[in-house]
This record gives sequence, structure tokens and C-alpha cells, in this order.
Amino acid sequence: MAQFAVIGLGRFGSTASRELMKMGHTVLGIDIDHKIVDKYADELTQAVIADVTEHNALAELALENYDVVLVAIGSDFQASLLCVVHLKSLGIEKIWVKATSSAEHLILTKIGVTRIVHPEEEMGIRIAQALSYPMVEDYISLGNGEFIVELTISQRLDGVPIQRITEGHEDVLHPLLLKRKTHLYPHPAADFALQHNDTLIVAGPLATLRALAPRLR
Ligand code: ATP
Repeated sequence: MAQFAVIGLGRFGSTASRELMKMGHTVLGIDIDHKIVDKYADELTQAVIADVTEHNALAELALENYDVVLVAIGSDFQASLLCVVHLKSLGIEKIWVKATSSAEHLILTKIGVTRIVHPEEEMGIRIAQALSYPMVEDYISLGNGEFIVELTISQRLDGVPIQRITEGHEDVLHPLLLKRKTHLYPHPAADFALQHNDTLIVAGPLATLRALAPRLR
């Protein structure tokens, strides 16, 4: 398991911290506001009060021992930027930073951080996908237009074989796993009969996956 430090325990930072804890990681939460630090003290591995615009305050936290430092200060970009500059001068290599505008993105790109996170935009894209393709529970982008999608099988598809979904695209669509209640069926065959509420995980190009939507309703 990894060790993470999360700077700024607003809605985004605290949610990321809690999720990392649920996944079994070690999380150090840092915030300038003592009430916020008190609130998360019991939920995180450790929570400390610090003003991260102060170089010495950051130096005392020994953040070089963490796998990734996530800077999750959204509304005060000057504080976020100063914090990133201090982290870099302390030799911290893996820094993820929340950005809220393209100007912030550009500045962070020039400074050089590991990853710039746009939570609102990323969530907006996910919500739009969910509204447009309600049968798609979740997805992962593999790059180059390739995706892995998690599909929920509708009532209408109860009893039909997987090939009715992949028909005509067998060369590019790869059913990876079928989950039925607590059972997992790796690499289900084309004639595997689906049941309502099965979860089917398929890899393939986004354009082909989109074209399947009418078959999945
Ligand atoms: P959200 O709640 O959606 O995450 P946000 O990104 O606007 O909104 P902010 O209020 O900007 O959240 O900041 C997140 C946290 O960062 C707050 O809890 C705030 O106290 C903390 N913070 C702000 N400045 C500093 C600082 N200099 N040092 C440490 N923590 C700070």
C-alpha cells in the first residue's frame, strides 16, 4: 500500500483522502484550518495543521517520504502555486495539483508537476457519459481511443448470447469478464447467455463501443 499526503481538506481533498483510506493506503491530511483538521483527525492516518505557503512548515512534514503529494487547494491559486514551488525546492518528485482554469493549467505545466487534475471537468465528462449511455456503469481510458467499459445488461437482453452485442465487431471488441451476482466468468465465450443485471466488461475502440449503444438498451 502507498503513502499519500493531501494538502487542503476541502470537499475534493477530503473525499480523495477518505477514498484512499478505504483502499487501505496511508494518508496524511494537511490544512491551515484547525477545525477542518479536527474534523478529519480520526478518519485519516494523521491530520496536521500547517500553512503550506510557509517553506519551513512544509519542510517539517518530511513529505519526501510519501509516494505522491496531492495539492487540493482550489480557490486560492496563489497559495497552491507557492506550495508547489516549495514542494519542488524540497525535492518532492510526484506532485499532483488541482487546477480550476486553463490559465492555472498553463502555469502548472510550465512549472512542471506530475499531473494536473480538473475535478469539475473530469466529473462533467463522466456525468455526460452516464446520461448519454445509462448502461455504461464505468469506464477507463487506455489512450489512443481504446476504452474498457463496464456494462449493465438490460432486461431486454436477458437470455441472449454475448455475440448479439459484439456481432460484426468481433475483431476489435474483447469481452474480458462477466460478473453475475458474486460469480466471475473471465473471458466469456461468444455463446455465453447473458442475464438481466449481469455486468459485462468489454475492451475496444470508443467509436465501436458507442455504436453498440442501441443494442444495449
Ligand atoms: P472544494 O471544497 O470543492 O475542494 P476548493 O478547492 O475551493 O473547494 P478551498 O477552500 O480552496 O477548496 O481549499 C481547500 C482547503 O485548503 C480548505 O480546507 C482550506 O482551509 C485549505 N487551505 C487553503 N489555504 C491553505 C494553506 N495556505 N495551507 C494549508 N491549507 C490551506
